[in-house]
Amino acid sequence: MESGTRTATLLADVLAGHRLTADEGTALLSARGREVWDIARAADALREQRVGKVVTYVRNQNINVTNLCVNSCGFCGFSRKPGDPDAYCSEKREVQEKAHLAGSREVTEICTVSGLHPDFCADSYTDIISWIREALPRVHIHASNPMEVAYGARQSGITTREMLERLQEAGLNSLCGTAAEILVDEVRQVICPGKIDTATWERIIREAHDLGIPTTATIMYGHVESAADRIRHLSLIRDIQDDTAGFTEFVPLSFIHLRTPLYRSGIARPGATGREDLLMHAVSRLFLDNFDNIQISWVKVGLKMAQLALLAGANDLGGTLYEESISKGAGASGTDYLDPEEMRRIAEDIGRSLAPRTTLYNLL
Ligand code: SF4
Repeated sequence: MESGTRTATLLADVLAGHRLTADEGTALLSARGREVWDIARAADALREQRVGKVVTYVRNQNINVTNLCVNSCGFCGFSRKPGDPDAYCSEKREVQEKAHLAGSREVTEICTVSGLHPDFCADSYTDIISWIREALPRVHIHASNPMEVAYGARQSGITTREMLERLQEAGLNSLCGTAAEILVDEVRQVICPGKIDTATWERIIREAHDLGIPTTATIMYGHVESAADRIRHLSLIRDIQDDTAGFTEFVPLSFIHLRTPLYRSGIARPGATGREDLLMHAVSRLFLDNFDNIQISWVKVGLKMAQLALLAGANDLGGTLYEESISKGAGASGTDYLDPEEMRRIAEDIGRSLAPRTTLYNLL
């Protein structure tokens, strides 16, 4: 059978309920030419079957508490070392000022993302959540990630489960599913050798779900990984979701290369191509048959590609953000804020409507 016919048959099977195998997923991610549009079209149809025509977004604000970090991940342009002129660590007053500002902007979610500060322990992370909770009693706090949970636990000599319980008691509502990068240890050894390994990421995510803490799931692609690595990652995420149903969404994050050591030293390629961005979202929709929500990160790919991804399986535009430092640090621009009116323009331009949602995907 010719490749085009094989792909068409496979896509028809997926639309009829077939669960993609790893080999089939890898083949779809490797597609070229017109087949890319066929895959995008199938993902778009599946998106409509699953979640309808509404494009969602969340009114959120990031608070980056510190950029000091003990790690040196090769893809990171955000972290700083003690003594660096632009290193910072915000105090309670500053965090609460930002939280109040977020409140005045009617955000429904605060997301905190930080480096692994050399002096942080479990209490540092719970303090940050308590400060935000004190300032904004009703906001949804989406904070930390499995790496921060492992770090806080290690610094304080407690288990990761205890660390999660403490965060929950302090007011954490959901955990960021970042620090996942590519959940294949051989790749992690190259791009982030100081980070937790795949098994630890998975264990902490399962612990969070077990405690009733929902999480997002992410992948960072477009650096040194292969299509097969991406599918190993998707397979693990799908398996966890089968067991826990604790993921709220899947967020592909396209690698921003410009100011990263990984790219500057010649190890990583200069990010994903447009074909790869489109296929990453389309194949995520087709492969993750137990996810409702596939998010396109406008911060990573820009608005025009974000709109195309909405035609290739994605149904969510992420957040308004108001403050963004991670992608900016790696060389991206225009990442601080996206006006919902602009989101509406790109959604309506492709015949869809836009609606704000809560972090847990209830429409507002
Ligand atoms: S990605 Fe996170 S853990 Fe790694 S160096 Fe950057 S801030 Fe630190």
